[in-house]
Amino acid sequence: MFLQCTPGNAPAKRPCDFCVHPAAAWSYPCRTIIREVVEGLQVIMAGPWHACAPCHRLIAAGKWAELRRRSLRLYRATHRPLTRAADTAIAADLAPLLHQFRTHRTGPAERIGGAS
Ligand SMILES: [Zn+2]
Repeated sequence: MFLQCTPGNAPAKRPCDFCVHPAAAWSYPCRTIIREVVEGLQVIMAGPWHACAPCHRLIAAGKWAELRRRSLRLYRATHRPLTRAADTAIAADLAPLLHQFRTHRTGPAERIGGAS
């Protein structure tokens, strides 16, 4: 199937995959990631990852710890109240998730919409 995007048929805005920002500005090509989130339950993450401008700046600068703190802070603020178990699980999962992003990324970021 071929999907043609024109200004009158612009794709819907994508949220940032690293935080909760509703409109990503950058796209990172990435191989498919298969993650076992709990025993017996796998999540398949296929296609590019999308980042808002602040997350993109942290990725470009290699500030992974800062990106992890930003993601967790914004996730907690948006999805509260979290149970203690959920909060602990999410906090523990962020570093491995960002590591998988780094190891599965296949190229440079591209500005969504083609502008630089
Ligand atoms: Zn973001």
